Parts: sequence; structure tokens; C-alpha cells
Amino acid sequence: MTDSFVVTVAGAEQISPNLRRVTLTGEALRTWESTGQADEFVHVHIPDAEPAEGWEDDHDIARHYTIRRWNPQVPSVDIDIVTHGHGRGASWAREAVEGDAVAISDAHGYYSPPEGSTRRLLVADATGLPAVARILEEATPDETFDVLIELISMDDAIALPSPATVNVEWRVSGNGRGPSALVSCMERMDEPEGDVYVWVACESAQSRRARKFIKETWPRHYTLYRIVGYWHVDAEEQLRKWEALTDAQRERYMEIWDENRPDEVNWEELEPYLQELGL
Ligand SMILES: Cc1cc2nc3c(=O)[nH]c(=O)nc-3n(C[C@H](O)[C@H](O)[C@H](O)COP(=O)(O)OP(=O)(O)OC[C@H]3O[C@@H](n4cnc5c(N)ncnc54)[C@H](O)[C@@H]3O)c2cc1C
Repeated sequence: MTDSFVVTVAGAEQISPNLRRVTLTGEALRTWESTGQADEFVHVHIPDAEPAEGWEDDHDIARHYTIRRWNPQVPSVDIDIVTHGHGRGASWAREAVEGDAVAISDAHGYYSPPEGSTRRLLVADATGLPAVARILEEATPDETFDVLIELISMDDAIALPSPATVNVEWRVSGNGRGPSALVSCMERMDEPEGDVYVWVACESAQSRRARKFIKETWPRHYTLYRIVGYWHVDAEEQLRKWEALTDAQRERYMEIWDENRPDEVNWEELEPYLQELGL
């Protein structure tokens, strides 16, 4: 992710008690390109510092958000933000008003069901709901989805229109308010058969538990699942542990994460290394 697009807030609206939609617009979006992947996301540079070289990866000033909708004709993009307590991103979403300037990066996505497969299992907490909504909206009528979503409140259970066949289970748990039930719910499901594509997006410790569960209980080819950690419940502690690593340990981490390999293949080596490091 290298490019930076300066845009302005066109409007913000509460779409449920804990989810706020911010619409961004600007001429710069005429050259912004969608990846076409329905869970695509950008880094949003939250103002009060000038975007500097490499700002996309700087958690001091930038946050990841899913592109919930892209309207190339306007041009505009919508992002739906969980307004969870403190946090630069959450506070910005709460306070955003028309005309506020931000920068966004180019887009990157993970959701890639193999060609020919039509059945999916989507598992997410509130931060993954915008991606789930877009995945379902952009699906085709021959697709079938089982969806498990963990919310802060049932009042956040937004409509999920789709041309596909969709079965949704909503739960109130996790999301930083209490223990997540996502993996225990997965443990009670029947193993997805054949070429069902499994996509999981949630808090990072839960996403790692989900990966361990899938590898041990629903073993499948790496092309048939994608699991993404969206946030850390213990973010400050994780950062402290990361900063305490030696240069050699960080270099080893970077070596393992080989951009030329599929992410889930990288994870096979990364997970044991993270455990060795106590991360
Ligand atoms: C690919 C990708 C796509 C994402 N898409 C979205 C999206 O569309 N909408 C969205 O809302 N989020 C999304 N996220 C998650 C979002 O980037 C994180 O939640 C981010 O940490 C929020 O930043 P913040 O400044 O509000 O909080 P931070 O400053 O990062 O954290 C401050 C404190 O809040 C806690 N915290 C952070 N996020 C949450 C949360 N969601 N619930 C409860 N506590 C939290 C942290 O543990 C920390 O203690 C996505 C993440 C990724 C990786």
C-alpha cells in the first residue's frame, strides 16, 4: 500500500447504536481503485499529523477500515466504524463532520473464494460486519452462506440484503465487552464439507484460536479459508511486547512473513514462532 488519497467527509450517520457510517468524497477518489474483493480495506490517516512516508503502517496515526461501499460515479466511499469506547479511530468516527479532511491508502483485500465453489461460512465480530454486509450484497444467486456474527447489542443487527441464500446467526458477546463466543460456536457446528470457503474476521486472539480450531478439527487446503485478526483486545500490552523484542526476533518475524506466499501458508510458520516469543 503506497498511494495516499486526500478526501473529505461528506457526511456521517449512525446506522445502529454502535456502528457509524462515514462517507468520504473528493476528486482524489477518481484515481482510487477498488480491488474488487468484497472485504477490501484501506488505511485511514486520522488527522492531526501530516501523512508522512510509510504512514499507512503507523498505528499512531492510521487505522484499517473496510470499504463498505464504493460509488465510483460520485465518487465516494462509505466506511462503517464501530464506536467502541476510546480509540483514535472510534473517536474520529463519532466526531466526524462534513468537510473534515483525511487521507486513505489504496485498497487491499483478503476474501478470495476459489473459483467454482459456491458455499461459504462467514464468522465475524462487529468490526467484520461491514465486510460481511458487502460480501453478501455483492454475492450471486447461486451462492449459499452460513453467517455467524457476534455483536455488542442485538440493536446492531443491521439488515443484510443479498441475492444469495443466507442463513444468519446473531449473538451478543465479545467485542471487548466480555468473552467472545465465536470459536465455541464454531466448535458446535458441523464441519463444512467439500469446497465450503471459510472466512473469519474478528479480534486477533480469537482469530488465532479460530485458525487453530480449523487446522485441528476442520483440516482443509489453505485456499479454502482466510482468517484475519482485525484488532487486539489487549492492544497496549501487545505493543509493549512487540517493542520489547530484539532486532533479531523482529527480523525473523519479517523473514517468516513472505509476501510471495499465501498468508495462510505464512501463518503455519508464524503461529509457532509467535508462541515461542510469548506473543
Ligand atoms: C482488514 C481490516 C478491516 C477492518 N475493518 C473495520 C471496519 O470496517 N470497521 C471497524 O469498526 N473496524 C474495522 N477494523 C478494526 C479496526 O481497525 C480496529 O478496531 C482499530 O483498532 C480501531 O482503532 P481505534 O483507534 O478505534 O482503537 P485503537 O486505538 O486501535 O485501540 C484503543 C483501545 O480500544 C480497543 N479496541 C480497538 N478496537 C476495538 C473494537 N472494535 N472493539 C472494542 N475495543 C476495541 C483496543 O484494544 C485498545 O485497548 C478492521 C481491521 C482490519 C485489520
